[in-house]
Amino acid sequence: MRRILAYLKPYLSSMILGLMIKFTGTIMDLLLPWILAYIIDDVVPLRDVELILIWGVAMILCSVIAVVANILANRMASKVAKDATEVIRHDLFVKISHLSGSQVDAFTIPSLESRLTSDTYNIHRMVGMMQRLGVRAPILLLGGIIVTLSMEPVLSLVLIFVLPFTGLLVYVVSQKGIPLYTGLQQAIDSLVRTVRENIAGIRVIKALSKTNYEKQRFSDVNAEVVKAEKKASIAMALTNPMMNLLLNMGLTLVIIVGAYRVNTGLTQPGKIIAFLTYFTIILNAMLSITRMFVLYSKGSASADRICEVLDASEDLKLESKDHVDNGYHITFHQVSFSYNKGEYNIDDISFSLKQGETLGIIGATGSGKSTLIRLLLRLYDIDKGEIRIHGDNIRSIPPKELHTKFGIVFQNDILFADTIAANIDFGRGLSRDQIEAAADSAQGKEFIHSLTDSYDHMLTSKGSNLSGGQKQRILLARALAASPEILVLDDSSSALDYKTDALLRKALGQKFQNTTTIIIAQRVSSILYADHILVLEDGKALGYGTHEQLLQSCESYREISQSQMGGESIG
Ligand code: ATP
Ligand code: MG
Repeated sequence: MRRILAYLKPYLSSMILGLMIKFTGTIMDLLLPWILAYIIDDVVPLRDVELILIWGVAMILCSVIAVVANILANRMASKVAKDATEVIRHDLFVKISHLSGSQVDAFTIPSLESRLTSDTYNIHRMVGMMQRLGVRAPILLLGGIIVTLSMEPVLSLVLIFVLPFTGLLVYVVSQKGIPLYTGLQQAIDSLVRTVRENIAGIRVIKALSKTNYEKQRFSDVNAEVVKAEKKASIAMALTNPMMNLLLNMGLTLVIIVGAYRVNTGLTQPGKIIAFLTYFTIILNAMLSITRMFVLYSKGSASADRICEVLDASEDLKLESKDHVDNGYHITFHQVSFSYNKGEYNIDDISFSLKQGETLGIIGATGSGKSTLIRLLLRLYDIDKGEIRIHGDNIRSIPPKELHTKFGIVFQNDILFADTIAANIDFGRGLSRDQIEAAADSAQGKEFIHSLTDSYDHMLTSKGSNLSGGQKQRILLARALAASPEILVLDDSSSALDYKTDALLRKALGQKFQNTTTIIIAQRVSSILYADHILVLEDGKALGYGTHEQLLQSCESYREISQSQMGGESIG
């Protein structure tokens, strides 16, 4: 919470000014009933119309000042809340994009999403509310009590009699209400998660006729939300009628006691009227304070969730320069790694690639192929061994510098809702020539030109208006576009037919001679010509060498090769 409050510092002067304006407006609000009482009790009996008019104008002035000041202060408060939340959201976003892979795994992506959206929104509401009511409600409450006490001490006893009941009501409701709203929030979270899964998997759901099953699943979480919402609203629905009941009972009491006192000449009617207004003001202030508590507790829970991310220690620290001259472009030296720090997902892997060489990686699903790439990009830190690029330990290369070395197509990579050209450019400011050349190498030129607006063709989110092969071609073009030092293709030619795959390899061989390439593939034919081939199983290297060598030495490789292409050798 303290950390979040620090975000308000730059707005301190604007907040103080806003609160001063608010203060003025609130005092005017408090003054109004007092003036009314004065007019009724002291001015009207004088039968001086001019004097009545003067005080009437004073009342109008007060109410105009009150309204203008309130609007002004509320606008300023909204601006502060909006601006401060913007900075918080920005910092959170930056921090999230710097989290290591294992930190993201620990927070989970849906949770990070809701911290970035609904939690920052709760902060927004809290900051806004605190400014709008933080000064106003206590002043109305205290000021109201002080004015009434000095005006009519006996009638104030009624107030003092009613206040503990409202206090109790407020306490019970906030004790009961807050956990209920937390429950509601959780139900909504799981609703959102289900919808997200459902939409992400809409095609497979339809293909496997799971629509009814999914409908049921949605109905279940939906019902859960309704139940939680009902529970919370019913509990909360009690507040307003109860509060009104207390208020009206109080007002009735004031009138009864007041009438008696006016009758016996102990007080004047104007005071009773003013008292009724003050009574309402005070109880409403009480209600506002409750609302503030609810928003505060929600906001502070959200602040904690945000701070958890903001304060996450920097996992992937930049280490001091660690260089050895080994003449290789990429070296893995006895690298081991485990996601959950148990059994190794990558176990004692070593290989060395010279500049311009190609490494093919092949292995069953779950054998650790993609993991190897994540380690090379330092999305996770390895547990044992060393990874070097040009002799530099990757722990000593600044992340930005490290990542710009790569052109990469991840497995199941994502296209964005933008034009084809923008998807290939990816914010790197490439020229049209570079983009077209990359599309050409990626074997995508033909299909892009067949579109009426070619490179300006708009893609839908995730490129869902393209076929699998078309998507892969654009992703490949994106990876190739900036002429990267290292090219990594994770299962990114699986949707290309054999002929296109071969053309792609030819283009890579011709135009990207100096680019060190790592190709992960299911098909032996995609990696056949690689300078080195790594056969993975359960994170261990079953074999390492060229196609010919592996056919001789590696039983599993021979089997895969035989099943796919009859065990041919190059030649
Ligand atoms: P595929 O051919 O299906 O893409 P892969 O060889 O690329 O498989 P990896 O994604 O590298 O496989 O996964 C290797 C192992 O690590 C798997 O057993 C997987 O369950 C595990 N794993 C992958 N990602 C994580 C993660 N974020 N947290 C925990 N375990 C993970
Ligand atoms: Mg993979």
